[in-house]
Amino acid sequence: MAEVRLVHVHKVFDNGAHVLHDITMEVGDGEFVVLLGPSGCGKTTVLRLIAGLEDITTGEIFIGGRRVNDVPPKDRDIAMVFQDYALYPHMTVYENIAFGLRMRGMARAELQRRVVDTARVLDILDLLQRKPHQVSGGERQRVALARAIVREPKVFLLDEPLSNLDAKLRGHMRAELHRLYRSLGATIIYVTHDQTEAMTLGTRIVVLRDGVVQQVDTPRGVYEKPVNTFVASFIGTPPMNLFPACLVQEQGEFLLRHQDGGLALPAAKASAAHLRPWLGSTVIAGIRPEHACLHTASPAMGKGLPGTVEMVERTGAESFVAVRTGYGSMVVRVPPDLPVSLSSPVLLTFDAEHVHLFDAGSQMRIL
Ligand code: ATP
Repeated sequence: MAEVRLVHVHKVFDNGAHVLHDITMEVGDGEFVVLLGPSGCGKTTVLRLIAGLEDITTGEIFIGGRRVNDVPPKDRDIAMVFQDYALYPHMTVYENIAFGLRMRGMARAELQRRVVDTARVLDILDLLQRKPHQVSGGERQRVALARAIVREPKVFLLDEPLSNLDAKLRGHMRAELHRLYRSLGATIIYVTHDQTEAMTLGTRIVVLRDGVVQQVDTPRGVYEKPVNTFVASFIGTPPMNLFPACLVQEQGEFLLRHQDGGLALPAAKASAAHLRPWLGSTVIAGIRPEHACLHTASPAMGKGLPGTVEMVERTGAESFVAVRTGYGSMVVRVPPDLPVSLSSPVLLTFDAEHVHLFDAGSQMRIL
């Protein structure tokens, strides 16, 4: 296995489209790094550059310490699994898995041992004599993975490998992939726009936007300390509530005050020195749905932000309530059995510990 390093990589396509900007990132030996970002942000292009399927415009790529800019794909010791697994339809599952090894002239006994061992790991031993159209989508997925694993490459590049599967199978395959990763100890770079996959599979996540790396961090890191409003709103379902407010200090406490006056919200427990540059200016505040609390009692009863219920979404295990407030619409997570009805008055309270603050101009995290 091996580490992968991109240094100041740019990609400009022949039509002049500059799709990757100064990508510098490192994937450690045995790490599972997820490239996450919206459609068209350049995730697949990064994989194709690492695999050698596209040329780098400027910058360098290293695999296992070796500069591979001019190394052809077949010599990079990489296995790539695409979204549309592209199995050979006329070959059996066994032949599909064995194909790459056979091309390299591996001896028959060794080849057979490797195919059977890999099929056992992926639990597809019973399928070896079938053709791809005779197995299910999830099984085809496992065949595609087997075809990659059997080659024992240094690095796996997986491009949205689960996106063709239904939600239940995706959940199952996520768990399988995780198990496989732990047993192989492989270096994996995994592309997805599905944040659940990113959060559950990645040891680290690289968040991309318009070809620019926004944040490289652990799943917890990107969730708890997003570096800017883009990451804050991209990670998390439903997304973080973001709203502009003026940062003020009253009796030593930091508060967020809406332009219209009205109720001030607790802003943060932080050192005055840290927040002083923003005092008196508009900042972007953020609060996740699980860090706001909804009270159905009469607004007259306590201190909090009053609002009216706009929408109730019940998912079974939990419910989300959208509340229209003076600060805009806010989504709050509530217990599934909480009785709330549309248009009813409610009160929201926030925990200052969990309020995120961003600079209104740069959109970068202040706190
Ligand atoms: P998705 O999640 O939709 O697969 P992605 O993040 O993987 O998207 P890429 O496929 O890497 O995005 O594409 C990034 C950008 O580069 C897109 O705007 C795409 O249109 C553009 N692009 C990709 N290939 C080429 C090409 N050969 N020539 C010109 N532009 C290209």
